[in-house]
Amino acid sequence: MLAAVRSAAVLGIDAYDVLVEVDVALGLPGWTIVGLPAGAVKESRERVSAALVNSGFMVPPRRVTINLAPGDVRKEGTAFDLPVALGFLAATGQIDADALASIVAVGELGLDGMLRPVRGTLSVARRLAGSGPGRGQKTTAAPVTLILPPPNVAEASLVSRLALCAPTTLADVVAQLNSGRLLPPVASVDDAGIGPLADTVDLAEVIGQDVAKRALEIAAAGAHALLMIGPPGAGKTMLARRLPTILPALTEEEALEVVAIHSVAGLLPPNGVAAVRRPFRAPHHTLSAAGLIGGGSNPRPGEVSLAHHGVLFLDELQEIPRHVLDALRQPLEDGRVMIARAATAVTFPAQFTLIGAMNPCPCGRAGDPRGGCACASSEIAHHQSRLSGPLADRIDMQVRLSAVPLRDLGRKDGGEPSAAVRMRVERARARQRARYRGVSRVRCNAHAAGRWLDTRTPVDADARDLLASAAERSGLSARGYHRVLKVARTIADLDDSAAVAWTHVAEALRYRPLELREPDVSGTTSGPATGPATNVPRAAV
Ligand SMILES: [Zn+2]
Repeated sequence: MLAAVRSAAVLGIDAYDVLVEVDVALGLPGWTIVGLPAGAVKESRERVSAALVNSGFMVPPRRVTINLAPGDVRKEGTAFDLPVALGFLAATGQIDADALASIVAVGELGLDGMLRPVRGTLSVARRLAGSGPGRGQKTTAAPVTLILPPPNVAEASLVSRLALCAPTTLADVVAQLNSGRLLPPVASVDDAGIGPLADTVDLAEVIGQDVAKRALEIAAAGAHALLMIGPPGAGKTMLARRLPTILPALTEEEALEVVAIHSVAGLLPPNGVAAVRRPFRAPHHTLSAAGLIGGGSNPRPGEVSLAHHGVLFLDELQEIPRHVLDALRQPLEDGRVMIARAATAVTFPAQFTLIGAMNPCPCGRAGDPRGGCACASSEIAHHQSRLSGPLADRIDMQVRLSAVPLRDLGRKDGGEPSAAVRMRVERARARQRARYRGVSRVRCNAHAAGRWLDTRTPVDADARDLLASAAERSGLSARGYHRVLKVARTIADLDDSAAVAWTHVAEALRYRPLELREPDVSGTTSGPATGPATNVPRAAV
């Protein structure tokens, strides 16, 4: 006898429909699973048959064939245990097959028949709320109910308008199906939806470092990548950790994306996702390229995706191997990563603000007015050259920090609280939204094409003169020229100014990341040309 149960699986962070067909026939006893099952799916037959027996169901010696459709997508994970068990019970007449028409089931089974949590449930819930019955399935008038393990209820409840049922055991699922009444979860989560979580840190806690704080504000407003160079103890990590607190509050849609990614990664706290704050990820410099951008045979999101809508902080940037840093280029450019697999490619969103940090030299004291650096100039040059190349091109701003003077450590007030800065950032973001309305994939100045900004937004004549003369003096490449213009545009937005003025360019030039390519950190040399001055675009008249 044949039975079918609707289920779902997740590829990247998007769910797709899977139809679990179970055929039970006379023949040599045994279970066969087809439809490109991966290891954990193949093992499902052992879990399911033990769970069936231990839940008191009959498991007659029959030939059991399970087909997971569509057959051309590799199936991963343990979420098919429950639909396989339900399909078996329907095919052997232990459940009313009609009761299965209006359900979608996901869940891992313990050998004792308990339902255990699975990854990516929010993605499944979002798909079900947004679409009708799956392909290959009869259209049913009744709305679907998602049957899922109790620990996954909290995240699935974030999607309103979706009926849920979360029994604790397989026997309980069957009892409810046979009674014709699927009960909603006992601990129902309130309908307030997902909200922002209050921050636990504040910019006002940082003493001194006014220039770095200002750079952080500009980076937040325009989504610019920022590199902080300073000795150990200057507060680089402390500052970076507070960047999420001055970014605009997450919208509900953004919050759902953040939770969906963390669900797929298996990183959600059980029953605790009613509120969410912007992610802050600070992986160690020993992380691998796969850890950074994601990977694995069943691809999981990497740090760039876990930082989606938040901040990726890379400390000791110069210690990260070149090939790992190179992997950052695609997400920084496209706002997403694509992970190629044998048959298909998985895409994860990865829109984050990058904050890098490094010491100015191996000992950390180069450029300190009090001296103390004994590094050879060749060592310093090598230290800095680790960063040259593709990644350096993606960093819009650079700021140097020195150790906080001891007399400042006693100060109580660190300055403006995060909330005040965030208000300016939100206004600047609103200006950018209006500017880029209709421009595909651009929401912030950092994502805009330099030439577009150059020709489509007003720049005062004396601001252009300053930019051109600075470019000629220090041999800015065309890319470098446009980077300064982008940052100046963000400063003008923070200033609520329609045109980029002289003062905006002057401030932006303070943050230009020139020294990345200089062999000498003292800053006294003019630096080797990063391109002939003729590369500098001529200012439009
Ligand atoms: Zn040194």
